[in-house]
Amino acid sequence: MKERFFGIEVNTEGYEELMRLIFDRIHKGEKSFIVAINPEKLMASRKDDQLREILQTADFQIPDGVGVLLASRLGTGKIRQRVTGIDMMEALCKTAADSGESIFLYGGKPGVADTAATALKTKYPKLKIAGIIDGYEKDLEGIRQKVDASGASIMFVALGSPKQEQFIIQEMQHLKPSVYQGVGGSFDVFAG
Ligand code: UDP
Repeated sequence: MKERFFGIEVNTEGYEELMRLIFDRIHKGEKSFIVAINPEKLMASRKDDQLREILQTADFQIPDGVGVLLASRLGTGKIRQRVTGIDMMEALCKTAADSGESIFLYGGKPGVADTAATALKTKYPKLKIAGIIDGYEKDLEGIRQKVDASGASIMFVALGSPKQEQFIIQEMQHLKPSVYQGVGGSFDVFAG
């Protein structure tokens, strides 16, 4: 279910329900683009056509900023829980580890995603990391081939905004993974 703010739909579910919805879509072969929403993005989207397109194109708009919860409380009150981009990434990894789906990490400085992958593996030993590409790789055709050959179901893209969202919008219909999330500096956080 979604609640609308300034013409942008925002998901009202918490992590557990979101995982059920997203993994159902994986099993049905449907693609999902996840974007994190905060009040700054909502306000900026009123004047920024490209940002508005990103926010409207996404399949899941998660309420990352507390401001979205406050706005909801003044409206329908359906959004009860903050869902952050980084916690969403971790929930996807945890659920993927349990269900046997594999992940792909694309972005960050060379070596960062490798360290993040090691940290995630330590936390979720069953997690399958299908592939890693750093965020400064220039060979787009090579990236596409590596992603598709990896067999990954979930692709995390950490190129910063709006670069990561532009990459996802441009590529997701052609690539094999089902789920795409732009995660900003999250690889740096997991890498510690
Ligand atoms: N980055 C990248 N390729 C680029 C530009 C940035 O991989 O061409 C990475 C950068 O190394 C960092 C992340 O993207 O890990 C940007 O994180 P930031 O916190 O700036 O993103 P935000 O969450 O603010 O959008």
